[in-house]
Amino acid sequence: MADEEHADCIFCRIASGEMAATLVHEDELVVAFRDINPQAPTHVLLIPRKHVTSLNALSEDEDSGIGHIVRVAARIAAAEGCGESGYRLVANCGREAGQTVDHVHFHLLGGRALGWPPG
Ligand code: AMP
Repeated sequence: MADEEHADCIFCRIASGEMAATLVHEDELVVAFRDINPQAPTHVLLIPRKHVTSLNALSEDEDSGIGHIVRVAARIAAAEGCGESGYRLVANCGREAGQTVDHVHFHLLGGRALGWPPG
């Protein structure tokens, strides 16, 4: 990524193409790729191209981009065959929620029955 500040962000590096990932969708706002450690038959991560560290750091500028991500997620779920059977879109925010990568991302999980409440 051109911006040095985020050169060590693995998701920025995936978004720029510098780091390999199995992409399932990309456009000017969002990149979606398969999680390297899948927790369900469908486990796709959707990230904004713009580096934002967590949900807490989102500004109004990101509103349309985040809405776009949600719609893209629904399209991917349909393409993966779990659009009707059911899927989950989840963003972990902060350490206690399990956030390990400080670049906003949404997990799209589907293809099996998902327990609730989550652990
Ligand atoms: P979280 O724990 O919510 O921050 O989610 C981070 C996710 O990124 C985890 O599910 C990891 O398996 C996934 N992950 C980490 N590195 C990579 C990578 N290089 N390619 C794909 N997924 C990754």
